[in-house]
Amino acid sequence: MRPLLSSLALAACCLQSPALFAQHAHEHGVAHLQIAVERGTVEASFDLPGDDLLGFEQAPATDAQKAAAAAAGERLKDAAAILSLSPAAQCTVAEASFEAETPEAGAEHVDFVAHYRFTCATPAALTGFTTGLFKAFPSIGELAVQSQAPQGVREQKLAAGNPEYRF
Ligand SMILES: [Zn+2]
Repeated sequence: MRPLLSSLALAACCLQSPALFAQHAHEHGVAHLQIAVERGTVEASFDLPGDDLLGFEQAPATDAQKAAAAAAGERLKDAAAILSLSPAAQCTVAEASFEAETPEAGAEHVDFVAHYRFTCATPAALTGFTTGLFKAFPSIGELAVQSQAPQGVREQKLAAGNPEYRF
């Protein structure tokens, strides 16, 4: 019985996210963030239009395009600037990764996904975050956030003038 029980537990864990978070259309200037808080762990996935990160949406070919891709990667690697969690929660970056989604054949648009995981020493003090996404990528005008935290499940749109989110 034991192997069956563990595989069921695993399925329950991992099927939750797609059911909770609906898919969205690719729209330039609009980024999406799915963030989940469970005990002391914060998982965050940003979905970003390639055009806003790089100014183009194909595999970097010229030197200028390669430099733009490297610069965007450097900005995204600064997880604490992109997602600044409540300081009192004492969260540290456990993982930061960045990848282009494989476009379908003939697709004209490319999305990038930046994934971050934080571990927080005082999760009870975790009440929200401020995003530095608008400073890092000024052509992004809106960040649509969906969160799942002990405070509940909610959605809110952030903008450059309103970069703070409360769970
Ligand atoms: Zn596009």
